[in-house]
Amino acid sequence: MPKIENLIRDNVKSMTPYSSARSEFQADDYIMLDANESAYDTGVNRYPDPFQKELKKLLSDFYKLPTENLFLGNGSDEILDLLVRSFCNPTKDNVIQFSPTYGMYKVLADINDLEMREVELDENFDLDFEKILAAIDSNTKLIFACSPNNPTGNLLNKERIIQLLENFEGIVVVDEAYIDFANDAGFSNLVLDYPNLFVLQTMSKSWAAAGLRLGLGIANAVIIAVLNKIKPPYNINALSLNKAKELLLQSKLMEEQVQQTLVIRTNFISTLQKLSYLDKVYETESNFVLIKVKNGEQLYQYLLSRGIVVRRFKQKRLTNCIRITIGNQEQMSLLEKELNEFEK
Ligand SMILES: *Cc1c(COP(=O)(O)O)cnc(C)c1O
Repeated sequence: MPKIENLIRDNVKSMTPYSSARSEFQADDYIMLDANESAYDTGVNRYPDPFQKELKKLLSDFYKLPTENLFLGNGSDEILDLLVRSFCNPTKDNVIQFSPTYGMYKVLADINDLEMREVELDENFDLDFEKILAAIDSNTKLIFACSPNNPTGNLLNKERIIQLLENFEGIVVVDEAYIDFANDAGFSNLVLDYPNLFVLQTMSKSWAAAGLRLGLGIANAVIIAVLNKIKPPYNINALSLNKAKELLLQSKLMEEQVQQTLVIRTNFISTLQKLSYLDKVYETESNFVLIKVKNGEQLYQYLLSRGIVVRRFKQKRLTNCIRITIGNQEQMSLLEKELNEFEK
C-alpha cells in the first residue's frame, strides 16, 4: 500500500497554510478584535469555525468515526477539487474514472489539465478489473469509483474495489453520494484499514439538504490533514453549519424519508415494468432509476411537454436511457399517469 506522504504534490507539501484568526482562539471566550468583523450581532457577524468542530462532533457520533477522519467541504464538488489539487500535478499526472459515471470528475480533470483515463464499466455496469489494471501507470494518482454509480444506480463490486485498494499505489475515491439508499454499509468503516481510501458522502441527497452545499469526506487522518491545509479557511458558512446541526439532531427523520423513498421506488418500478415501450429497468440502489425505452427522446420530450423534467444522456451507451429521480408519492403518481398516457 502506498505511503500517502509520497503522493502529496511538492508545492502543497512545502507551503505554509493561511492562518486564520479563528483557528487560534474561540470567539466565545475573548473580546475578538482581531479579524475586522463587525461587533453588531446579526447572528452571522462572526466568521464561522474553520474546522466545524461542533458539526463534526455530531457527524462523528452518527457515523461512529473519529473527528480526525472527517472533512467537510462546500459540497462534494469542493472536496473532489481539493483532492485533485492535493495529489495531481497538472499536465503530468492522470486520473481514472469508470464510465458512464458522474460528470464532475472529468470536469475537474479538465480544469486541472490532467488526463482522464476512462475505463468502461462492463455490460452489467460493474468493474472490469483487467481493463483497470491496464489503464493504471506510475502517474495515475486518483481513481474515482462512484458506488452506487450515477447515472446507472448500481453498487460496484466491493471485493474488486478492495483489490484495487490493495494493489493501486494512488488514492481510490469512493463516491457514496447515494449510499444511504443502498442495501450496503459502504466503505466508510474501512478508512482506518486502507490509508489510500477516500470515501465521499454528501448531505445533498438522503439528508434532503442540497441547498446547504455540504459534502463529507471520510479518510485516513493524513489525507484529511492535507485537505485541511489547502482548503479555503471558512469554506463552510455559518448558516449551513447551523442547519446541518439541526438536521443531524433529527437523523430519525432522514432515515424515515429514505425508507419512504425506497417504498415509492419499489412501487414505481412495478408500474414501469408494465409499460410496453420499456426495454429495461436497471438495478438500482439509489434514489433514482435508470430505464431504457424504445424511443428515449420522444418520451423525454413528451414528459417535458407535460411539465415533468427527467434526465437524458449524450453518451452512446446510454442512448434511449432516461434517469428518473424518485420524488414524493404525489409526483410519482402524476408521472405514472403520464407514462401510461404515452403508451397510447
Ligand atoms: C449528487 C452527487 C454528489 C453530490 O454533490 P454535492 O456537491 O455534495 O451536492 C456527489 N457525487 C455524485 C455521484 C452525485 O450524484
